[in-house]
Amino acid sequence: MSKIILVDMDGPLANFEEGVIDVWKRCYPDRPCLNLNERKSWWSEKEWETLRKGYWNDALVLIETPGFFKNLSVVSRSREALEKIINAGYTVQICSTPRDGLIHTVEDKKAWLIEFFWKDIANSAIFTHDKTTVVGDYLIDDKPDIVGSKVPSWKQILWDMPFNQQTNGMPRVKSWKEVLEYFKIE
Ligand SMILES: [Mg+2]
Repeated sequence: MSKIILVDMDGPLANFEEGVIDVWKRCYPDRPCLNLNERKSWWSEKEWETLRKGYWNDALVLIETPGFFKNLSVVSRSREALEKIINAGYTVQICSTPRDGLIHTVEDKKAWLIEFFWKDIANSAIFTHDKTTVVGDYLIDDKPDIVGSKVPSWKQILWDMPFNQQTNGMPRVKSWKEVLEYFKIE
């Protein structure tokens, strides 16, 4: 059986953080923005509350507005890399956490996958709040402390972000070129 590589969306595939900053600047040009290099953790809410007190609720409204996820830009060379990984014999499955209770974010994410990747990968995508229950050999994800109800079957490959620099103990990749190198795919 081919090995399964689970791939997170926000971070490795979709420029979520950049999308938040763009929409914030557009909607609130007179307010300070929370730049990525100021962040010390993955948890947006905590970071906004600490560094931009009182602004998180407005940021959340923007993130949870229908269409936000559909409009995110694609991480450089991700589509080409996923095609190469699949051609090398791996099964690639998208594994993403939607916004809590908001079905439209699942629909937006699926529509995004169809637009920028392909239909099959959208159809097989898993949307869950507990990634530890998903079976796979590897998980490429930018969240450093994934916990849940199970001991994960996958090994995490950490997608490098400014806010996860303190995390050690797992392989780290900075680009899809590095992912291909990790799996020794040309
Ligand atoms: Mg992510």
